[in-house]
Amino acid sequence: PIVTRFAPSPTGFLHIGGARTALFNWLYAQHHGGKMLLRIEDTDRARSTQEAVDAILDGLSWLGLTWDGEPISQFSRVARHQEVVDELLARGQAYKCYASPAELDEMRETARAEGRAPRYDGRWRDRPESDAPEGVAPAIRLKAPQNGETVIEDLVQGTVTFANKDLDDLVLMRSDGTPTYMLAVVVDDHDMGVTHIIRGDDHLTNAARQTLIFKALDWDVPVMAHIPLIHGPDGAKLSKRHGATGAEAYRAMGYLPQAMRNYLARLGWSHGDEEIIPLDKLIEWFDFDAVGKSAARFDFKKLENLNGHYMRSTADADLLDDWKTCLAHLDGGAAILDWMAQGDHEAVTLAALPGLKERAKTLVELTDSASYLWRQRPLDCDEKAEKILDDTGRQILKDLHEVLSAQPAWDAEPLEIAVKAYAEEKDLKLGKVAQPLRAALTGRGVSPGIYDVLIALGREESLGRIADQAA
Ligand code: GLU
Repeated sequence: PIVTRFAPSPTGFLHIGGARTALFNWLYAQHHGGKMLLRIEDTDRARSTQEAVDAILDGLSWLGLTWDGEPISQFSRVARHQEVVDELLARGQAYKCYASPAELDEMRETARAEGRAPRYDGRWRDRPESDAPEGVAPAIRLKAPQNGETVIEDLVQGTVTFANKDLDDLVLMRSDGTPTYMLAVVVDDHDMGVTHIIRGDDHLTNAARQTLIFKALDWDVPVMAHIPLIHGPDGAKLSKRHGATGAEAYRAMGYLPQAMRNYLARLGWSHGDEEIIPLDKLIEWFDFDAVGKSAARFDFKKLENLNGHYMRSTADADLLDDWKTCLAHLDGGAAILDWMAQGDHEAVTLAALPGLKERAKTLVELTDSASYLWRQRPLDCDEKAEKILDDTGRQILKDLHEVLSAQPAWDAEPLEIAVKAYAEEKDLKLGKVAQPLRAALTGRGVSPGIYDVLIALGREESLGRIADQAA
């Protein structure tokens, strides 16, 4: 069975690139009926925080990317990592290195002067233990092959060859007894039964070094897939200056998890010309054949359009749930949630949703155009509405108040007939009548359909708002 893993370092929120890596791991596992494990790479004690762990789990959960079993803390496995280092020592695959910091500096300096990558020269590789300086704790290094090549058959990058002479005897355990990241990853991937390593292509050189460790231990090397990073619209690596880089920021900006999943999946992967791919198809179609080698560019406009599509096609009750999740993370959202929880407000909101969602590309836009529902009388008007509410507009409202008050039934159809009859009688274009009505009811120059608004607000509130602005 296929076992993948997502292995974030908990030093911040779930980066959008990390979210895409997690998604590819998840899709691949789902496609093959396998598992995705979650490993928190928290060995850097100074930079790892519990808040970051929580933020990562929260981001994954929001995106619906489930993992199997409990998240595994890499730091908690330190004893096992040390045990494997001892085993490598015992097998003669690793050795103690007593090179001093000054010696290592010198090696780096020489390399720099000669214009080549710094490389440990292997000076303790074959020295007897009797040469060890007294009172110095050694680092443990891998006795890596000095000739030949290390070849990675990568599902995305193809065959990638590294000359072993360029991969020096890497450190497995520091002189303070802490295992290195390189060693920990290999031991964990092995122990967790990982069959496929799927991660960003910034780890490709690590892949070669890790392969050497796997081989030294006679362990199977997992299949690897190094996926290209995400770039901003300008082609530079995605960073803060391109806008939000954390998954949770997209939730607060009003994107739906299903739209994010679809969008992130299409970043670097394709299936013909399909743009809108529902989850079951993502799972069915996902494979590495169709993952390109070049960096994908983040296209905010495309994400927005896709989100608009998912808003329109999501069932109202489900959309309301997504909306509430967004409100819980939006400035001012708590007050709106409170309002929704009162009386029949939720039912009113749900009834207004079909009209609202046609126009909005994000849940934040939806919140704005729905705000007429919970804003209090007398309404603040935006500039456009103010303009519409001139003397003529206010006179029309005075008339309409009379016309609408006389309506026996507060239903969209008779209300529409009444408004149209009034416009005809006064020889006014319908728009001329609808505009002040809209401005009075919503305080805005643009709104959902005016009869939807009348129904959502109900007779009393509608007539009250019209009276507030009438001449
Ligand atoms: N912890 C690494 C990172 O966050 C990932 C390591 C791996 O996937 O092997 O970049």
